[in-house]
Amino acid sequence: MTQSAELLSIETGEDYPEIREGVRRVCADFPGEYWRDLEAREAYPTEFVRALTASGYLGALIPEEFGGSGMPLRAAAVILEEIHASGCNAGACHAQMYTMGTVLRHGSIEQKKKYLPGIASGELRLQAFGVTEPTSGTDTTKLKTRAVRDGDSYVINGQKVWTSRALHSDLMLLLARTTPLDQVKKKSDGLSVFLLDIRDGLGKGLDIRPLKAMVNHHATEVFFENLRIPADNLVGEEGKGFKYILDGMNAERILVSAEAIGDARWFTKTAVAYVNERKVFDRPIGQNQSVQFPIARAHAETDAADLILRRAAARFAAGLPCGDDANMGKLLASEATWHAAEACMQSHGGFGFAKEYDVERKWRETRLFQIAPISTNLVLSYIGEHMLGMPRSF
Ligand SMILES: Cc1cc2nc3c(=O)[nH]c(=O)nc-3n(C[C@H](O)[C@H](O)[C@H](O)COP(=O)(O)OP(=O)(O)OC[C@H]3O[C@@H](n4cnc5c(N)ncnc54)[C@H](O)[C@@H]3O)c2cc1C
Repeated sequence: MTQSAELLSIETGEDYPEIREGVRRVCADFPGEYWRDLEAREAYPTEFVRALTASGYLGALIPEEFGGSGMPLRAAAVILEEIHASGCNAGACHAQMYTMGTVLRHGSIEQKKKYLPGIASGELRLQAFGVTEPTSGTDTTKLKTRAVRDGDSYVINGQKVWTSRALHSDLMLLLARTTPLDQVKKKSDGLSVFLLDIRDGLGKGLDIRPLKAMVNHHATEVFFENLRIPADNLVGEEGKGFKYILDGMNAERILVSAEAIGDARWFTKTAVAYVNERKVFDRPIGQNQSVQFPIARAHAETDAADLILRRAAARFAAGLPCGDDANMGKLLASEATWHAAEACMQSHGGFGFAKEYDVERKWRETRLFQIAPISTNLVLSYIGEHMLGMPRSF
């Protein structure tokens, strides 16, 4: 065991109790009917995001010198977990946390001074993260969006898909190819990250169109046609962007998994309350072990996933490699929450379909974690190849 690994410690109970309590208080003002109404109108939860920003929770990862609260990744994970465990959804605003891994580690001091205070105060929204493209999908290094250096600018051409919240964001973290694939040694070389100002680009080569989807993630398609952006908006070094995004992705996986854990907690709590209350055949349905067991199993799975994720966050904080735990945690959390969702849906019988119970909404929402930001197969291939040493498949 290395010295720093010995120093790793994980709290096993309700860590960050003040944060948990504070987030629950904020979320209490946004009950199920708020989310149902938003979904019916396909509207953005402006008031919810404003309340979270005002309470300082969205700026958790931004260092204090830039107006945030400079908390560790685990604290941010707790915030997202509690949002979801309260029946709310952080999907409207979590990107500003996800993108911090890349911006804080690789952004220049000028970029941090220019953007972070505004992001911390809520004046500036960094809620869009443009990686996925329609033709390359999960095969990220084949993405086709090009950024070509021209004097003090880069000129961008291409297309992104599934870019959540781009119509509710001022900035976008964008991954684009700066050196063509046939001119690089490694396919992961030649990709670069940009902090793009959406406000400057709209109508000048940047077009964003809403994409209707099963869950309220404000998905969009983004089109770039000769969009000119200042060269200063390049994050870190040209050509190293894939590495930066991968660095950030471990943080993203830990954070998104915390949302899955929060959902799982909500499903379990909701299912238990219902099966204890609902009487059929003159007894609570929860008295039937066939009803109890799936809920109990999902609870055990959720706790196991939570522990691996806490280890991932502790390793991240210690500056140790955390990819193995972040990936395993993501896999287990996305499956635990789905099992909890299924148990909750099944125990509600027909009422699981009634919108007023919120079970069907949360059930749809939590299905996403097995697909985005990375699908289960891709996580399994990471474990098979990188952790267990089986042959590379793609
Ligand atoms: C609601 C929502 C919000 C999103 N938000 C964003 C966002 O903000 N920014 C962003 O950049 N992206 C976003 N995404 C995109 C998301 O990250 C991708 O959908 C996801 O990574 C999968 O990519 P794909 O859809 O192209 O699937 P594909 O790559 O086409 O894969 C389809 C299926 O095939 C499987 N598969 C593919 N190749 C292999 C292989 N070699 N071995 C085994 N299985 C394989 C995959 O596991 C998957 O199940 C979002 C998606 C959704 C649905």
